[in-house]
Amino acid sequence: MQETTDKTHQLKISNLSKDFGKLQVLRNVSFSFSAGTSVAITGPSGSGKSTLLHIIGTLEEPTNGQVEINGTDPFDLSEPELARYRNAVIGFVFQDHHLLPQYSVLENVLIPTFAFKQQPDASQLAEELLKRVGLTDRMSHRPAELSGGERQRVAIARALINKPNILLCDEPTGNLDATTAATIADLLFELHRIEQNILIAVTHNLELAGRFENRLKLADGICTLETVGGK
Ligand code: ADP
Ligand code: MG
Repeated sequence: MQETTDKTHQLKISNLSKDFGKLQVLRNVSFSFSAGTSVAITGPSGSGKSTLLHIIGTLEEPTNGQVEINGTDPFDLSEPELARYRNAVIGFVFQDHHLLPQYSVLENVLIPTFAFKQQPDASQLAEELLKRVGLTDRMSHRPAELSGGERQRVAIARALINKPNILLCDEPTGNLDATTAATIADLLFELHRIEQNILIAVTHNLELAGRFENRLKLADGICTLETVGGK
């Protein structure tokens, strides 16, 4: 398994297509990104943004073409190996926080570490991450006791606990008011600069999309890459 601390990690997508029955969602998509890169995925509703994110996240197999993460095709792995690989290499933040209501904030952040037996300093790292996202005084709260923005901060801390090479976000600020959304976006970029992961986020928000170095625009199955710089 690839070291998650490896700073040379790379994502390569080659000639990727995805069909659902007769529906061709993605056609011949190719791109490659390395550590420290940020990418926004934009496009109309139904254009395949989530599908592309799920394929990159190894949750869904492409119909044709290849995904390579750090030189390995994850779909060559057995199902249990793939689950372990995904947990180590990829972090997910969804529009809806997906926190487990019966667990505390700290426990929610620790959940992805349970798959790895030898992680003596996991609690310390979780506390550090919660400090970085500004929730030191909320660690024993349940998700229901938090605001929407706070829940999304917990989701971000949970996504980063295994130091993933790739952080995937599907409309991470979609359920938040404009001010909270802007703070969450600032936080994502700040942590991205520190962690040097490959940050890929689906967003409808053009202002947010403008902050990414690269933009993948999806329309009619075709994916166009713009590299602009971002901030
Ligand atoms: P977006 O995230 O850009 O709104 P999606 O990737 O969710 O779009 O969906 C792209 C298209 O694929 C849509 O037409 C959707 O209905 C279809 N689709 C997505 N997932 C499935 C699935 N599991 N089975 C059948 N069709 C699907
Ligand atoms: Mg979607």
